Amino acid sequence: MTLFYSLYFLMLGFTLGSFFNVVGLRLPKGVLFKDERSYCPHCYHTLRWFELIPLISFMLQRGKCRHCQKCISPLYPIMETVNGIMFVLCYSLIGFQVELFLALAFISLFHIILVSDFVYMVIPDKVLLTFFCLFIVYRLYVPLAPWWNALLGGFIGIALTAAIILLSNGGMGGGDMKLFGLIGFVLGWKLLLLTLFLSTLTGALISSVLLMTGVIKRDQPFPFGPFIAISAVSSFFSGNIIIGWYVQTFF
Ligand SMILES: [Zn+2]
Repeated sequence: MTLFYSLYFLMLGFTLGSFFNVVGLRLPKGVLFKDERSYCPHCYHTLRWFELIPLISFMLQRGKCRHCQKCISPLYPIMETVNGIMFVLCYSLIGFQVELFLALAFISLFHIILVSDFVYMVIPDKVLLTFFCLFIVYRLYVPLAPWWNALLGGFIGIALTAAIILLSNGGMGGGDMKLFGLIGFVLGWKLLLLTLFLSTLTGALISSVLLMTGVIKRDQPFPFGPFIAISAVSSFFSGNIIIGWYVQTFF
């Protein structure tokens, strides 16, 4: 039965992943619901159902549009695969508990944000607001202990990021600030601080390496969303273990 549910969550992850790609790509352009059919971004040929099967279509067409033969960005199948794997991972780590819903929502939020941050360098407000409503309902049903932990986490997330934006002269954006507020609200203040620490550390390390190797130039905008996403998911699953280890080692 576990295998059956694992396969189920893998397929669900692939399919929803394909939908999240569309949301992340279309929402910042304001065309999410205007044109419901998917199309090739190069030749605008409307895609048929067999060109829209997550992963399989990409592999069968060898990563190219059937009409104009231009390359389809590997970002889409990569994100679909990651989404599928993350859904199975959530299920196998949590099982059928109420937290599974939170984990899947968390993964879904980050998937959409990653796509729009990669492509447009934007974290859409509508996505943050939609998930914020969802998380409020969840936290009313499953509150953090103590109850003010979620509010304090949200406040610290916004205040600290605002301070970083002011001090670093635009090292992070307004979207990052709202996202940290949201993460603080969901995870509470301790895991928020851990997420902030891990994401700035990995972000600074990777961007320095990319700068030194000439992959990116100084003053070139750099998407910070992926680092926040990976750090928040790590904090969600193993934050308490990391904090416990830290306290035991250094105090
Ligand atoms: Zn095309």
